[in-house]
Amino acid sequence: MLTCPVNRRRSILSTAAVLTNSERDRTPLLVKARSMTYISCSRTNTVRIYVNRPTDAQMLPWAHAAVGYLLYSVYSRWRVGRPPVGLTVYAVGLGTQFPDLIDKPLAWSFAVLPYGRSLGHSLFTLGVLLLVLRVTFRYLDQKALSAAFGLGYVSHLFGDGIGAIVSGDFGGLGYLLWPVTDVPSGDTRSFVEFFLALEPTPLMLVGFVLTIVAGVVWVYDGMPGVKDLYAQYRRDMDDTEPQIGD
Ligand SMILES: [Zn+2]
Repeated sequence: MLTCPVNRRRSILSTAAVLTNSERDRTPLLVKARSMTYISCSRTNTVRIYVNRPTDAQMLPWAHAAVGYLLYSVYSRWRVGRPPVGLTVYAVGLGTQFPDLIDKPLAWSFAVLPYGRSLGHSLFTLGVLLLVLRVTFRYLDQKALSAAFGLGYVSHLFGDGIGAIVSGDFGGLGYLLWPVTDVPSGDTRSFVEFFLALEPTPLMLVGFVLTIVAGVVWVYDGMPGVKDLYAQYRRDMDDTEPQIGD
């Protein structure tokens, strides 16, 4: 059994009740924690306990991409009457990952941010970014890219909030107004351990279904993004083919 001391990092023991139990009786803590989450015991005798709260319910990267694409496909049809085309697909894809690309490394790996949902997940950051894009890009095609990026970004924030909304723990939406509102702190962990700690949840299942649906819709839309790149590649190849008489 595990005998090494508990590493009492706040991010790991984010459930206050579990933290309190550990002061009096370590065994129930470990048993309880083992049944609900993932425990690693390193060679340095450190036990790391990852407690998954309802508000931490994870929508994984591919599910974020799927939700963003589905929303953008609907938006594109409504706005211009056709499926998405060209680079907008990449812009929406980047938007769906952008908050985590900022926050997860800075919080988990470098401890610069307090939590994996803070700076990049704040509506303030989103507002500033959209303002910069609006001022910087004035041409119609550039605006289309900005809109796609923004929609992907918003869909990510919404996806991350689903767990808190469904469980009624609206405090879990605090990241939306960071740094005005509080978020948990000390959220350092390794990416490998994060994926090892994943447990099947209804949200994860929904994410997988949405990913399949989005894939089907993307094919139905004519595989925008990939198709455009391939067409460009063919044109470039045709231009470099030696012509008769050259
Ligand atoms: Zn996120």
